[in-house]
Amino acid sequence: MSHSSTSRIQQYIGDPVTDQPPVEREQLEEIFQDIQGDLRFDHELNGCLNCGICTATCPAAHYYDFSPREIVQLLWTENLEGIHDAMQEKIWSCAQCYTCAARCPFGNSPGGLIMLMRETAIKHGMESAKSVLRPFSRVMLKLISTGNQLSPDMINPEGFADWGPNISKVDAPLELLRKAIPMPTLHTTKTAWEVNLKTSVELYTIWEETGVLDSLETIDENLFDVICDIMDEKRDDYDDWLDEQDD
Ligand code: SF4
Ligand code: SF4
Repeated sequence: MSHSSTSRIQQYIGDPVTDQPPVEREQLEEIFQDIQGDLRFDHELNGCLNCGICTATCPAAHYYDFSPREIVQLLWTENLEGIHDAMQEKIWSCAQCYTCAARCPFGNSPGGLIMLMRETAIKHGMESAKSVLRPFSRVMLKLISTGNQLSPDMINPEGFADWGPNISKVDAPLELLRKAIPMPTLHTTKTAWEVNLKTSVELYTIWEETGVLDSLETIDENLFDVICDIMDEKRDDYDDWLDEQDD
């Protein structure tokens, strides 16, 4: 008996009671292939007993409608619609603490798999990625333009003048906390934000070559443009400095 191999496959998958447009199967497959095709995928998913140990030890699962067991099951069973659905909200609940990876009897890393899903959400310009990352745009601008790391004292009126009076709400308690809990490795804006020109130019090259800037462009075009201008300026400054050394 012959029959069409595609006759039973739905071309569109979606919730019939939602306003969201259905997602084409081709797009769902492309998203899964991007997650599965990553070199890290096979190291981070070896199988899943559905035991729930990861969820039992997950701090995020205590506070949100989120379960690493559920995410791993979706990937393990290749549930394309469920994977897409989880990428709209749930994957952004993970705190990336990797307690799950330390506990999984199968040696899986649910936190690592979630990171792959997040990277794929960014690559596909998903709205969930844009809205989750939007509040961090100023932090990203500071990190990329002035240095390479966060420092506990960076949230102050001088560092974030554009935050206006709201900055004082977080500034004052942090000062007190720092006095109460002194940290021996405390970095400050003075040490963290002073990056020499050569290092800055090298960092920009790394971000370009590793696709960090492509991801940024997908998520926030304005921020991408501002950062490109800053990078061009620093590269010019570095070239001028090199020319001065030759003279
Ligand atoms: S890495 Fe994410 S999923 Fe794993 S335990 Fe931490 S918060 Fe939960
Ligand atoms: S990922 Fe590991 S800990 Fe979590 S349900 Fe599967 S086998 Fe259990």
